Amino acid sequence: MKIGVLALQGDFREHLDTLGAIGVEGVEVRRPEQLSDVSGLILPGGESTAIRRLIERWGLREPILDLARRGAPLFGTCAGMIVLSREIEGDEAPVLPLLDISVARNAFGRQLDSFEADLQVPVLGDQPVHGVFIRAPVVERTGPDVDVLARLEDGRVVAVREKNILATAFHPELAGETRFHRLVAAMASEHDDPGEGAGRRPHPIRRTNAANG
Ligand code: GLN
Repeated sequence: MKIGVLALQGDFREHLDTLGAIGVEGVEVRRPEQLSDVSGLILPGGESTAIRRLIERWGLREPILDLARRGAPLFGTCAGMIVLSREIEGDEAPVLPLLDISVARNAFGRQLDSFEADLQVPVLGDQPVHGVFIRAPVVERTGPDVDVLARLEDGRVVAVREKNILATAFHPELAGETRFHRLVAAMASEHDDPGEGAGRRPHPIRRTNAANG
C-alpha cells in the first residue's frame, strides 16, 4: 500500500518522513498518473494560493476529486485544510470542495503568527496532540456531516473529519506526531481491502435531505 503526498509546494518531505517513521510507503505526487496506484493522499502545509495554482496547472483537480469519491482517505494539514474546504473566507474560489466547512486563512493574525498548543483529540486516544500552528487557518463553520476532532481551549475548531476526508489547521508532521498518519494508513488499507462485514461501500459522499428527515 502506498500513500501519496502532494509534492507541489510546502512541507511534503516532513509528511513523507512521518509515513516512513510508521513503516508506510509514501510517494511524491506531482502528476495525475501518479495518483493511480495510491490508496490515500496527504495535502501538506505551505501556501494554499501556490498549491491551488499548481493543482490547476498540472491537471490534478479532477483526479484528486475522483480519488476522494472512490473513498480513499485524504488528509490536509494547514494549507492542505484550506485546499479541501468548501468555503474560504474572502470569497476565494474553493479548490477541492470536499469538506463541508468554512475556513478563515491566517486566522491568528500577526501577533500570534505561530504558536504551539496541546490538544485533546479523543479519536486518537488520551495522550494529547502537540499542535504546531504556523499562520494557521481556523474552521468557522462545520456542516452537519462533519465531525469535530479537536478544538482550542477557546472552543475554536482546528481538526475535522467528514467520512474519508481529514484535516487539521496545525502540523502534526512537524511535532513528531504520528497518530494522524496511522489513522490515514488504517483508513487507506480498509479502503483497499474492506474487512468482512464492512462490505464495499458505495459512493462515500452521502447527501442528506433535511426535509425528508
Ligand atoms: N497561511 C497559509 C495559507 O493561507 C497556510 C500556512 C501553512 O500551511 N502553514 O495558505
